[in-house]
Parts: sequence; structure tokens; C-alpha cells
Amino acid sequence: MTATSCGVSSLIGRAAQRGPEVLLALTLVCGLALVTAPGLLRAQSARLAPAEWARICRLALLTGWIGVEVALIGQAAPTVLRFFGASPLANACEKMVGGWVAGGPTVGWAAATIAVAMPVLAGVGAVRTRRTWGTVHLESTLGTHEEFEGFDLLVLSTEMFIAYSVTHEGQNQIVVSDGLLCTLDDPSRHLVLAHEAAHLRHGHHRFLMLATCIEHGFGGAWPVRASTGAMRSALERWADDEAAGVATPERRRLRTALIAVATLTGPDVVASLWGPTTIFERLVALDDAPACPSLIRRGVFYAPFVTVSLLGVAALGMWLGEMPRIIAMASCPI
Ligand SMILES: [Zn+2]
Repeated sequence: MTATSCGVSSLIGRAAQRGPEVLLALTLVCGLALVTAPGLLRAQSARLAPAEWARICRLALLTGWIGVEVALIGQAAPTVLRFFGASPLANACEKMVGGWVAGGPTVGWAAATIAVAMPVLAGVGAVRTRRTWGTVHLESTLGTHEEFEGFDLLVLSTEMFIAYSVTHEGQNQIVVSDGLLCTLDDPSRHLVLAHEAAHLRHGHHRFLMLATCIEHGFGGAWPVRASTGAMRSALERWADDEAAGVATPERRRLRTALIAVATLTGPDVVASLWGPTTIFERLVALDDAPACPSLIRRGVFYAPFVTVSLLGVAALGMWLGEMPRIIAMASCPI
């Protein structure tokens, strides 16, 4: 950690000597690195407990997003301030402010556009997701209602294979079809329902909402979708571990149930219910006992995240440190 801190300090020191725009660029690069890291490390993530990995993914996506957004706002600020001309900061220190931006007004306006578009698109994603949740959260008049682990369990009478959990306006619901339940024996049925209940108990809808917002915010860019996909996969494995626990027979039973349903359902239904992009990782994970990494292994895994985060925070801190100087100049007559 000491070597990491020294390396970060040295990098930041060199960046600070080059000027504030380099610090902003460094913040941007660190933000992008954090947003893409979960996707890049997805294969190695099997060494971590899925709950821990899901939380790392969420933190990396969130802090990466903030880093990118702050860097874009910082890049755009002088151009926008100069355009409106009403800011004493921009008027008084135009020369100084102009020095912040590499690339001039073109880059400044591009940054401003992206900085505004990202939260707007994320908001669109959030609205769409909430609408979808409202659609799939079914009315109480439909199907047969039971209770499972304290949650509303709705059984639909259909041959289709349906199994999902949803939270809408604070109301949790597990929806399954009797066509699916009839395919499974009692213990397997319980495992599938326990899997859905685990999603609700741990608030996985909040992770999914974040994933959707960030995907939309970044315009569905593939590296970002790879990272959100890694988090979604972790959520599924997390729910599997909660449902099946550490006992090998239970894990095998859930594995068999997943294979049976994935084999019997058509590709479209699998895409909506069981996630063809996550099923293979789940089957592999259920083959073994839950991951229990040593402290050293966890430290090695955390190292890139910590290093990039430190670098980004330090660069941002240094850049913000320039503010008093700029504000002081704004209050001085030119
Ligand atoms: Zn699931």
C-alpha cells in the first residue's frame, strides 16, 4: 500500500506541474477506468464472494460515473461561463479561465453537452425501468397469492415458464408460473423461490436500477455494459448462494433445476427470466462450494480499484485546490 501511495503521489505531482487541465484529464481517465474495471475483471471475480463482488461493482460504477461527470463539468465550466458572460468569475479572469481548457471552446461545449446528456439519459433509463417494474408487478386480482419468506408469492396459471421478483413502489412480489413449478420437485421449487426471495431481501433492484441508469448515461457503450453485466451476474450468483447455502447437495439440486428450466425454455424466455449471459457462470459456481478468498487474495483483487480511486480522488483534490487561487483572481481587478 505504501508503494501504491508513493506511486500515486508521484503521478499526481507530475500532473499538477503540467496544469489543472491534466488533473481533470486524469480524473476523467480514472473515472472511465473504474466504470470499465468490473467488466475487465469479470473472469477473476469468481474468486470473490458474489455479494462482495456485486458491492465492488456498484461502488466502482458509481464512483467512476461521478469522476467522469465532475471532469466533464470542470472541462465545460470556463466555456459555459464565458458564453453567458454574467459570471464575475468568467469576466474577471477570462485569461486565467481560458487556460484551464485544452482544446478551446469546441472541447468545452462537447464536454458540456456530454455532461448534461449523461444524467438526462440516466433519468430516461430510470423512468423506463420504473415503468417496466410497474408493468410486471401484477395486480392482486391476478393468479393465486401465497406467502413465501414474508414476501407476496403470486402463482400464475400458465404453461409458460415464469419466475422473477420485482419491487415497485415499495411492494415486493415474487411471480412464478405453475407451468414452471410443475416441472420441479418440492426441494427444487423451494430453492427457486428462495433465489427470488434473496433478490428481494437484499434489495437487488437498487443495483439493477443503478446498472440501467449508468448504461443509459454512457449511451449503452459496450465496455460499460460489460461492467453492468458483471454486476448482474454477481447478483444472480449471490441469490444462488443465499438459496442453496454451502451444502453440496443443495447446490447440485439448484444447478440441476437451472439446467432443466434453461433446457426446456425457449431462447427468448431464457433471456428474460434466466439470463443466458449469466447462466454459465452460475452453473460453474454451483459446482463448487461458495468462494472464500484469503485476505491476501482479496487485497490483490482490491489493489487496482484502490489505486485508481486514490489517483482519481487525489487528482480531483488537487484540481479543486486550484479554486481558491482562481476565485481570488476573480475578485481582483484586471
Ligand atoms: Zn435471479
